[in-house]
Amino acid sequence: MKVLVPVKRVIDYNVKPRVKADGTGVDLANVKMSMNPFDEIAVEEAIRLKEKGTATEIIAVSVGPAKAQETLRTALAMGADRAILVVSETDVEPLGVAKILKAIVDEEQPGLVILGKQAIDDDSNQTGQMLAALTERPQGTFASKVEIEGDTVKVTREVDAGLETVTLKAPAIITTDLRLNEPRYASLPNIMKAKSKPLAQKTPADYGVDIAARLKTLKVVEPAKRSAGIKVPDVDALVEKLKNMGVAA
Ligand code: AMP
Repeated sequence: MKVLVPVKRVIDYNVKPRVKADGTGVDLANVKMSMNPFDEIAVEEAIRLKEKGTATEIIAVSVGPAKAQETLRTALAMGADRAILVVSETDVEPLGVAKILKAIVDEEQPGLVILGKQAIDDDSNQTGQMLAALTERPQGTFASKVEIEGDTVKVTREVDAGLETVTLKAPAIITTDLRLNEPRYASLPNIMKAKSKPLAQKTPADYGVDIAARLKTLKVVEPAKRSAGIKVPDVDALVEKLKNMGVAA
């Protein structure tokens, strides 16, 4: 089966975001950008499925600025076969991304779409679920294990109370959680090879999708500074302190 893996170019997870002085968003000038960590896990899972002989072709897709080419080249260097870049220099909201992905799903007919559970820049946790709704395909979100037999996809999900197992019938949509796997690093020869793998360039208009913003950001602010903690000599003092603060019963 074909596997489609949407990957987003986001601020690197090691970078401390700086809020713009006018409070309109996060300052991305001269900031290191990387593939969204949950999407690296999605690419890794797709490669493992190909290594097992379940997946036949892995297509990485990104909606973003021309520079998102670098993110796609990383996916190709890890092991994806080809890539599609849908260029938009303005931010595309999860609904717009989901609509573009739906059009690509209609065109490519993948047996599986593996997305990250959330993008670490907007923390929306929406795109996979919206794509499942738009394509009317079953979804297994927050996957910590994926097993495939024929067209049955067994997904172990991380939920509040522990682990839940669901079975889906392919074609299906999966979103990855942190413990699904540990993504590989691309080797130098594979980085070189990735340069000649196919990367198609498209626009949202090619898929007939209107990406006009539906959401309005009112204000972005830094989190409040934490006040300094205190040290207590022993457990009794800790309990006493908590009682006085109205925390312990
Ligand atoms: P979100 O709903 O924004 O938290 O994103 C969830 C997942 O959807 C991400 O981990 C990606 O797999 C995918 N996704 C979101 N935005 C994009 C984008 N612009 N390009 C490609 N994939 C995306």
